[in-house]
Amino acid sequence: MSPYSRPLEVAHEHALGWLGSLGERPVPAQASIEQVVAALGPDLPERGCPPEEAVALLAEASDAGLTAMGSGRFFGFVIGGTHPAALAADWLVSAWDQNTGLRTVTPAHSAVEDIASSWVLDLLGLPAESAVGFTTGATMANFTALAAGRDAVLRRAGWDVARHGLSGGPAVRVLVGAERHDTVDVALRYLGLGAPDVVDVDDQGRVRPDALEQSLTEGAPGPVVVVLQAGNIHSGASDPFVETIETAHRHGAWVHVDGAFGLWAAASPAYRHLVRGHEGADSWATDAHKTLNVPYDSGLCIVRDAAALQAAMGVQGAYLVRDEVCQPLDKVPELSRRGRAVPVWAVLRSLGRDGVAELVERLCGHADAFAGALRTVPGVTVVNDVVFTQVCLGFGSDERTDEVVRRLLADGTTWMTGSSWHGQRVLRISVSNWSTTEDDVERCVEAVRRVAGEVVGVPA
Ligand SMILES: *Cc1c(COP(=O)(O)O)cnc(C)c1O
Repeated sequence: MSPYSRPLEVAHEHALGWLGSLGERPVPAQASIEQVVAALGPDLPERGCPPEEAVALLAEASDAGLTAMGSGRFFGFVIGGTHPAALAADWLVSAWDQNTGLRTVTPAHSAVEDIASSWVLDLLGLPAESAVGFTTGATMANFTALAAGRDAVLRRAGWDVARHGLSGGPAVRVLVGAERHDTVDVALRYLGLGAPDVVDVDDQGRVRPDALEQSLTEGAPGPVVVVLQAGNIHSGASDPFVETIETAHRHGAWVHVDGAFGLWAAASPAYRHLVRGHEGADSWATDAHKTLNVPYDSGLCIVRDAAALQAAMGVQGAYLVRDEVCQPLDKVPELSRRGRAVPVWAVLRSLGRDGVAELVERLCGHADAFAGALRTVPGVTVVNDVVFTQVCLGFGSDERTDEVVRRLLADGTTWMTGSSWHGQRVLRISVSNWSTTEDDVERCVEAVRRVAGEVVGVPA
């Protein structure tokens, strides 16, 4: 018998047990970190055990300490579940254990990555010539694309970053919307660009084109990068790309779009208008582990000028020594990397174009259903214009909203995130899981209704 048989059988059995429990188990974890440490045993054993025993101990000791993020009743952060095709394909990635940095070393993975890349560009309505890098998430996709952008605007200004570094070169100005995701700032920090200049946004968090124009006009001439957003985590709204991209390009800027979850609106004929004009940018970041429901971790960095990406991330590090064919390792920060394209291919092959559109529309439909049902509950206000997958609720005062967040967590039916938006505390519902059903939504609406009724007594 293969040494892999028993450990994989044990893992298979426990994985099915876990997935089967998601329908009914409470969403929050039921055990603390300390309890799981005690169940696992903190001491390094002097002697080992058969692999299947280690796997069984891991699964049994961890179970109560796992949060049901893959449950159809989980609406926290912006998370997404795992589509069955993507999960099964991800198991194969580990079994195959390909180092996927170089094309010809693993023809099968390169074929899968080529196809998955072109499908993603097609679905998202992005230029077919773009390079696609498979990263760990949107944070790294933002970082990777912004590295290409930083180097490109400096190159245009006559400065070769790869040779000279940043010091002594022209300052790069970066403009971001006031409600960009925090990870954009992190990416800029990694890149040595410091804190960005902040542009005013409207009531849904969208960059105001007139404010962008003013900020670009007032700034000193020089290299500029503008970071826009598809999918505000509170409102779900996207920036007005037609106007903002035209303005930014007129000022010579590199335009990057952070579309971690919101870019997938482009895959649905019914929601595509939300991101109209997005294809005019120079680079885009999105996640496969959110809307597309691929298991963690999986992001996509997309850059129109493949040579610019290769110059920033490639081992050669120069714009003019571009290889005929961009190697996978030339498009991401890592040299060695797992076969991240495989689960992306699998979910796209399984869903097809219609299935991806239907997935996006179903998530948005559930968000609408939440807003519609909760709007009628006394004491509950829907704070944002619900246009995509995000719903923010207020409960009359910050104290009441925080109390709702606490009580919902204790109730366990669902997980929704407490947050602050536009000067008030909100409860944020992010619909991102392919498996959420209308019944899940109803159960969770009931839970919010129940808790909202309890907190009416809390002084506002
Ligand atoms: C989630 C998110 C990110 C960060 O993505 P990770 O995959 O967690 O690295 C960036 N921007 C937006 C808008 C997001 O929603």
